Amino acid sequence: MRSPIPILTYHQVEAPPAPGVPFRSLVVAPAAFARQMALLKMLGYRGLSMSALEPYLRGQRRGRVVGITLDDGYVNNLQHALPVLQRHGFSATCYIVSGQMGGANVWDRDQGIPASALMDARQLKAWVAGGQEIGAHTRNHVDLRQADDAAAFQEIAGCKRELEHRVETEVRHFCYPYGSHDPKHAAMAKALGFATATTTERGRVGAGDDLFELPRVPVLRTTSLPVLWLKIATGYEDRKRRSQA
Ligand SMILES: [Zn+2]
Repeated sequence: MRSPIPILTYHQVEAPPAPGVPFRSLVVAPAAFARQMALLKMLGYRGLSMSALEPYLRGQRRGRVVGITLDDGYVNNLQHALPVLQRHGFSATCYIVSGQMGGANVWDRDQGIPASALMDARQLKAWVAGGQEIGAHTRNHVDLRQADDAAAFQEIAGCKRELEHRVETEVRHFCYPYGSHDPKHAAMAKALGFATATTTERGRVGAGDDLFELPRVPVLRTTSLPVLWLKIATGYEDRKRRSQA
């Protein structure tokens, strides 16, 4: 049986905000991100976007690979993550909220999370031209389980359509905002032509896992290099997954 495949989840790659700011843990410092990518390289892993990872997820290829995903599409991903990814020959998938291209993470406002700029179409094109990939993350970062079926479908379909039109690239991968979804949302993504969908469920991807309910491995501000290694190379995250179920 093939070894489990970790798909890393990042959000912002930026100097972390002051202590006490909500969800500060989701901001990874640029120097820490650089050390993490260097560790992957040193361990012989290749960091891959979801499209590049797909043959491994399907069991068609084998190798030491790690998926790299960044949620929401922050400008700081372009500024701080892209040069590091390129230095190592890695690719990553950034999941974009199409209704907020050039805007900010307004959906986080009620939780007291400071606004951070999101990439506009020109910046997304630069991300793609830099060898990276974009995926869809709904039009408005909605909790799909709170939306009625027609609205949920429009959020997923509209995001794919807008991104493909504005950024002029195929969009084949989806990520559920907040990880929130029911089986019908996976069916919608499948029907719309997506190849995978990622969740916030923790764990590495095993051989039998559904490509529309992919677990991931969170990387936080406080994730040390030894813990990153544990998350990737051992059953550390897989145990978290079982304890969540
Ligand atoms: Zn998100």
